[in-house]
Amino acid sequence: MAEEDQWIFLSGEFVRKEDAKISVYDHGFLYGDGVFEGIRAYDGVLYKLDEHLLRLYESAKSIMLDIPYDVVEMRELVVDTVRKNDLRDAYVRLVVSRGVGNLGLDPNSCSTAQVVIIAEELALFPKELYETGLEIVSVATRRNRPDVLSPKVKSLNYLNNILVKIEANLAGVPEALMMNNEGFVAEGSGDNIFLVKNKTLYTPPGYVGALEGITRQAIIELAEEEGYVIKQEPFTRHDVYVADEVFLTGTAAEVIAVVKVDGRVINDGKPGPETEYITERFRDKVKTDGTSVYGEEIEVG
Ligand code: PMP
Repeated sequence: MAEEDQWIFLSGEFVRKEDAKISVYDHGFLYGDGVFEGIRAYDGVLYKLDEHLLRLYESAKSIMLDIPYDVVEMRELVVDTVRKNDLRDAYVRLVVSRGVGNLGLDPNSCSTAQVVIIAEELALFPKELYETGLEIVSVATRRNRPDVLSPKVKSLNYLNNILVKIEANLAGVPEALMMNNEGFVAEGSGDNIFLVKNKTLYTPPGYVGALEGITRQAIIELAEEEGYVIKQEPFTRHDVYVADEVFLTGTAAEVIAVVKVDGRVINDGKPGPETEYITERFRDKVKTDGTSVYGEEIEVG
């Protein structure tokens, strides 16, 4: 999409990308004080928009951030942003920062929260990696402790995840896994992890420190419908190395196979059959569960 064609919702109106600028006194910029969501539209349907909005408002409540729109208005604004940009397939970034304040930490200096909505086309990983699968590594950076900063709050404080990404870059791989303080696998820098072993799916429970992703929940529900056994229990890197299959899930990442972890080859280095089946079922479902952008009827899946 050409820059001059892109419209961004900012400070209550749509502005062109080149004009979408915020103050250096915004506490989102100064302190990472705010919350956000990433939402995808598939062929004109904003997948699980209401679930994303619920998480946004719960995150905001948790950090005592007043969003200046109610959820119905916000749903409309997200839909309008996709429509204004004439997109059917889109990644939407919805950011609510504490807004402009003074240089002190005190959020009381910020009078109104700032809402920004960006919609564009985005594939998180290069297209061919969705066919071949990813090589990943585990890194030394530990997941923030959930009793210090709850992963349920999807805040603008992503330094923990950025440190993971830096380690992935240094290792020359597109994504990396972080452990929690006890050495149990938590998640990737921006996605959840699943293992397949003897037809059972494993994913770490929220208390290990992972964000309980909306895609993760969708995969759990879909897999249950398909008769898989799902176990949400802590596991270690060893369990990842000896899994039959490994895959990652997330709104930006979607569902993507992992074929090598710390040099250990998974499923002969190819995306496995269960991962492929689950990915296919996920792709079938994404247009059947969400909010229509262009008022078209949604086929129920
Ligand atoms: N973990 C982290 C740290 C993330 O940033 C994301 C992306 N929101 C996920 C997991 C996946 O969550 P979801 O499926 O809700 O996008």
